[in-house]
Amino acid sequence: MEYDGLYIKMTSDGTMTKRIIFRGFQRKLPATTIKDEIISFSEQNFEPYLEMLTEIDTAAEDVVGNEEYKSEVNVDEFIKFANIVSDSCKSLQKKDFVMGTLTSTLLKDSVPVDDGTTYYIFEAVHEMRACLYDIYMFYRHLMEFLHRTSDGIDLNFKRDFKQFTEVTAPTRCMFNGKNLTYEYVFRSLSQYYIFIVQQFIAAGYCVQRCNCCGRYFVPKTKKETLYCDRVIRDGRTCKDIGPSKKRRQDENADDVLRAYRQNERKLQRRKERARNPIMETKEELAAERRLNKWRKKAQPALEKYQLGEITKEEALSIIITENKKKYDLNANK
Ligand SMILES: [Zn+2]
Repeated sequence: MEYDGLYIKMTSDGTMTKRIIFRGFQRKLPATTIKDEIISFSEQNFEPYLEMLTEIDTAAEDVVGNEEYKSEVNVDEFIKFANIVSDSCKSLQKKDFVMGTLTSTLLKDSVPVDDGTTYYIFEAVHEMRACLYDIYMFYRHLMEFLHRTSDGIDLNFKRDFKQFTEVTAPTRCMFNGKNLTYEYVFRSLSQYYIFIVQQFIAAGYCVQRCNCCGRYFVPKTKKETLYCDRVIRDGRTCKDIGPSKKRRQDENADDVLRAYRQNERKLQRRKERARNPIMETKEELAAERRLNKWRKKAQPALEKYQLGEITKEEALSIIITENKKKYDLNANK
């Protein structure tokens, strides 16, 4: 019998076939490519995931507190915590079958066996938290990678993206009666995506940020491409709309764009200040949520303004969150 996990086969034309096994049942997933996997992962909405992590952290604190080591822990609280983790996995699986399944296999592989000691509870809480954080931490790493690649910044993999160099994909070899075929098997989502990133880099793909919608894309040729092919409005793509949008931007010397960037930087700085290099903190997650919430409103406002659908004042009133008065004065200088 095959064990639970994600099974990948690469074909010679660059497509991948995916199937997933959970509790003995197999699901076939749509075929995809390395490029598409990277881009679609970068566009995942991690908002609900962040909410889940905040809930997990609060429950973890109820069990082990903030301290390094407590000689006594509350077993009932631990059982409650373990149930929350298992429920989170199930609801994750409902929303995203691959993500939920590979979180549960990762938990199975990482959480130690209960030996009845207090130390076990500490270990288990720590490991469960780490498993649930695993994919989110990878997501942030990947976004940093995309950001640097698209900006043409030289990458130091050993220093900044060590994680990308450390994983090797487990393979198994099968004889199909005629030939040998290889299949990759994954039991952790980050392990799968690291494999995808490695393939992406090895294939020499590059990534650019669209000057119109701001999203990442993989250009078809090596030539510099400013706009992507996504349809963003009434059947028109960024390639269609981008150039005229840019002209309008330039004409307005762009107070709105400047306000957008300043606000974004401010919120990003707050997030960085709340950052703890060892572990995620509640404060950092809260700052991140604030940033995401703001982006959700501000990005469409900027876009509408650039397309001439709303006025400068309307756009600024949505984009600027604090010190509106002071800002308006600066913006009009
Ligand atoms: Zn675009």
